[in-house]
Amino acid sequence: MGSVQIVTTVLAAAITAVAVWLAVRAVLRMVAVIRLGQPAPERFADKGTRAKTMLVETAGHTRMLRWGVVGAAHWFVMVGFIVLSLLVLEAYFEVVSPTGGLPLIGGLAVYGLVTEVIAVLGTIGIVVLIAIRVRNRPTRPGGRSRFTGSTMWQGYFVEAVVLAVLIMGFVIRGFKVATDHFEYPVWATPVSHAVGALLPAWPAGVSVAALIKIAISMTWLIVIALNVTMGVAWHRFLAFFNIFFKREPARPAGSGLGPLRPMTSQGKPLDFEEADPEKDQFGVAQVEQFTWKGLLDFSTCTECGRCQSQCPAWNTGKPLSPKLLVLSLRDHAYAKAPYLLAGGGKDLTGEEKATAAQLAHLDVLTLAEAEKPLIGDAEAGGVIDPDVLWSCTTCGACVEQCPVDIEHVDHIVDMRRYQVLIESSFPSEAGVMLRNLENKGNPWGAPQNTREDWTKGLGFEVPRVGEVDDFEYLFWVGCAGAFEDRAKKTTRAVATLLNEAGVSFAILGEGETCSGDPARRIGNEFVFQMLAQQNVETLNEAFEGRDQAKRKIVATCPHCFNTLGNEYGQLGGEFEVVHHTQLLAHLVSTGRLTPVQPVDGGVTYHDPCYLGRHNRVFAAPREVLGSALNGGGGAGSDLIEMPRNSERSFCCGAGGARMWMEEKIGKRINVDRVEEAMSTGARTVAVGCPFCSTMLNDGVNGKGAGEQVEVVDVASVLLRSVRPDTAPGEKQTAPTAG
Ligand code: SF4
Ligand code: SF4
Repeated sequence: MGSVQIVTTVLAAAITAVAVWLAVRAVLRMVAVIRLGQPAPERFADKGTRAKTMLVETAGHTRMLRWGVVGAAHWFVMVGFIVLSLLVLEAYFEVVSPTGGLPLIGGLAVYGLVTEVIAVLGTIGIVVLIAIRVRNRPTRPGGRSRFTGSTMWQGYFVEAVVLAVLIMGFVIRGFKVATDHFEYPVWATPVSHAVGALLPAWPAGVSVAALIKIAISMTWLIVIALNVTMGVAWHRFLAFFNIFFKREPARPAGSGLGPLRPMTSQGKPLDFEEADPEKDQFGVAQVEQFTWKGLLDFSTCTECGRCQSQCPAWNTGKPLSPKLLVLSLRDHAYAKAPYLLAGGGKDLTGEEKATAAQLAHLDVLTLAEAEKPLIGDAEAGGVIDPDVLWSCTTCGACVEQCPVDIEHVDHIVDMRRYQVLIESSFPSEAGVMLRNLENKGNPWGAPQNTREDWTKGLGFEVPRVGEVDDFEYLFWVGCAGAFEDRAKKTTRAVATLLNEAGVSFAILGEGETCSGDPARRIGNEFVFQMLAQQNVETLNEAFEGRDQAKRKIVATCPHCFNTLGNEYGQLGGEFEVVHHTQLLAHLVSTGRLTPVQPVDGGVTYHDPCYLGRHNRVFAAPREVLGSALNGGGGAGSDLIEMPRNSERSFCCGAGGARMWMEEKIGKRINVDRVEEAMSTGARTVAVGCPFCSTMLNDGVNGKGAGEQVEVVDVASVLLRSVRPDTAPGEKQTAPTAG
């Protein structure tokens, strides 16, 4: 070992020792913070499926690749990071000796080739990512950026380090080539040989370059160890765990977001018959009341802003950004952690758990952080502003887009649950809806004995369950379908089409009550459970003695469709639920319904969030509309897609019980969507949801375009094509707003 190598070896060892010590300390701190969360035992079930899902999502980059170039570039950088860690290890041999290399695999041509290829592609990938970050920087003139609110220096720092480490890899190899110590052939390592042709034959060059490479890598480790909230770096390690412990690992990719998490206390679902607010946790009032998976979520956020770029609230000027919400919770959790780790915290009655002596060593900033209310406006010093919390439509775009499986909607609803159930603090206008649900079983407060009024004048009998036993489908009408004028037309259209196709169906009539979706999304789990249990009992009775495959329900409202199909299982109700567009598509494809007249004037389709993104029903409504557009085998026309469609569809603004709240901040979401729909030039905007219908109709009327554009359900479009002679009243026109 020469004198240069003695110096490089000592310096490499010293900086590595410091970096590793700081990194171990940071990991222990992070683990301690995450362990402050509540138990979530279900996250440890089915480890095999979890491991498989994690491997598929990470190795296949299944979520990132939805973003095309960014996804591909990130894949190469990720693979480069993993494989080229070997080259950092190799640098430790090279600081000791300029001819050093990895034992066993070092010297194999295939190792030289693989690392060379990955280093080249990784370099291209990181340059692309840097260019994208620069192009989308929040400070660029004009335009919105998904990076607004992200800590930009951290992103640039991480990317610069990756680029520098990759370049130093070529420089080390180049010096080996120049000094004739390189064991790999030119065909396997052409770039290294090209770099070597430019470098002098400096014998110490290899060790010095290796030291620089180690110093850059260890500086990166030191910086991230000193910044445990630097998700853009830590996600390289945490993302694997976050994806492994995701909420629905068994759900096949592309099958939707799945049910909302039930309310839990100490890791067990809450039973409202026995629950006691002084002993059991009702929702989340303090950051440590999230589960440990919640705290892991907050730690893993990469600040990429994909969620923010799709959020309807953020895109219409509301204060909610799912990214900024996660970052606020993360920063608060880590700032409050020393207090919690010292034994601090409030019990469920609000009393301090720690003694003064336990908290004596804490600084004032930590104690001030601990006193912040989780939900509160700027004056109250809250972590999350109420306007942020109540702006969410639970559209699921954030969860859908997040590359590391962060569960924003569950966290938002958990915070809403405490506000509604314990504080009775929620937008006052939604109180009428909740009272109506409790007293009348529907959000409109309509009398229960008018639930079957939509059947009048149909020209055929709509049987109730009990009057017929051999029905194939139970037609779940829903409150909108029974009481709201526009939605009643859809209900009648569906019933007419089912009758036309000879499908045997029956309704519950007055036996039906609200599915509970608006109560659950606003956070009133108590009312949801009350309504859902009643419905599950009714439905189980209606299907008594039937196999699972014959417990079939068709619903026109995607919120009912989602709640009955995905969430009633939590209460013992297992049914086969389809949306009416799925059943209609099946009836058309099997020839039981035949469109005979093409629909003209151009049709565009708005994907309802709870049908599309939440349940991945994208094709069926398009198939139905396609058949109506080409009815009778005519030339017809194609469906005109809006720029934001399918999984990137834009919300109408009604989900998450927003239907019953005033929209006072920013641009109205429905107006934004209507402008997009009208920009297609289509005369018909087809929908598959009564809430979307209301919101988009209001938007069209608000723009004074009711004469030019018609918002109508997919079923009504099909009915016009199947039965051009349709009974008067099925033609829908946009009603006057208000
Ligand atoms: S669910 Fe939709 S509205 Fe709510 S934060 Fe996510 S993207 Fe925004
Ligand atoms: S998409 Fe996920 S990782 Fe990216 S900013 Fe949003 S929450 Fe963070």
